[in-house]
Amino acid sequence: MTELNTLFQIFNNLSESEKKAFLKKIKGENLPNLTKASNITNICKCAHCNSANIVKNGTVRGVQRYLCRDCHKTFTPKTNTILFKTHYSDAVWRKYINCMMNGMSIRKSAKACGINPDTAFKWRHKILDSLQTMHKNVKLNGVVEADETFFPLSFKGNHNKSNFKLPRESHHRGKSNHKRGISSDQVCVPCAINLNGLSKSVITNLGKPTVKDLRKVFSRSIAENSVLVTDRNSAYNKIANEHNLQLVQIKAGKGSVGTFNIAKINSYHSILKMFIIYNFKGVSTKYLNNYLIWNNIKNYALGSEEEKEQIFADFVFTNKFCENSHDVSKRKAIPV
Ligand SMILES: [Zn+2]
Repeated sequence: MTELNTLFQIFNNLSESEKKAFLKKIKGENLPNLTKASNITNICKCAHCNSANIVKNGTVRGVQRYLCRDCHKTFTPKTNTILFKTHYSDAVWRKYINCMMNGMSIRKSAKACGINPDTAFKWRHKILDSLQTMHKNVKLNGVVEADETFFPLSFKGNHNKSNFKLPRESHHRGKSNHKRGISSDQVCVPCAINLNGLSKSVITNLGKPTVKDLRKVFSRSIAENSVLVTDRNSAYNKIANEHNLQLVQIKAGKGSVGTFNIAKINSYHSILKMFIIYNFKGVSTKYLNNYLIWNNIKNYALGSEEEKEQIFADFVFTNKFCENSHDVSKRKAIPV
């Protein structure tokens, strides 16, 4: 199946005339229907112990309540989700997700939803935090282009805390990493995207990444037998060997090897930089992972704007979410 994925992805990226020529050549073959499958499954499970052994147990103010036969606790579809114990209606949260899909600022979204900007900021990160679970399970297959990009270390938003000290001590140790001109004030973000547009990106380290750093992103997120297309960084040889990937490396300045190139990952980096640097005027490193996910959903997930918004909302509203919103600003300044 993996080889088929590779073929389909290459096919989908051909020009219309190349597609026609290809189909003419293999006329008579039955091509499988490539329609998108929805990845949302509405299996209701216990909000406390995740058991599927549940029964309906009346309604509370019009909302279906369930009883778990294993842990004997009751719950509703909202228990422990982002909509649990909120002062606002589902409609306000939906409106807020719509603002996020449009890449709106905190101030504008707060105004559109009738909430205060502090609440809007907390919601932004509660929502993006809950999408981390979805992002963790992303597995890329077929033809996967990968490369790292870098963002300047940023402590934006940390300075208003009286006890905050800039964690820049690496400057003074004389050991900062200047290989290939990448210093330790650069946050490394390895990214990968397949020809279907499924993407993954996570902060791994400061400065140039080691094989160990790259493994943090790529070890579990690329399906076996995929074709991995990268630049000549030798770290990718190890990763490809460890995970049974076919490696194609493109020499700097050389456009492609056969049908493979790194155009998609280069364009991914440009769009990500536009999103972070121009749209948000740079973001604090402690929140960068959340903005990476936001970019993946807004600019890369498949489907129409409406379909994406629906998938986004369904996931956020049905997944368990435990973090208290007061903790959002207390996270580590450098999350690596
Ligand atoms: Zn239970």
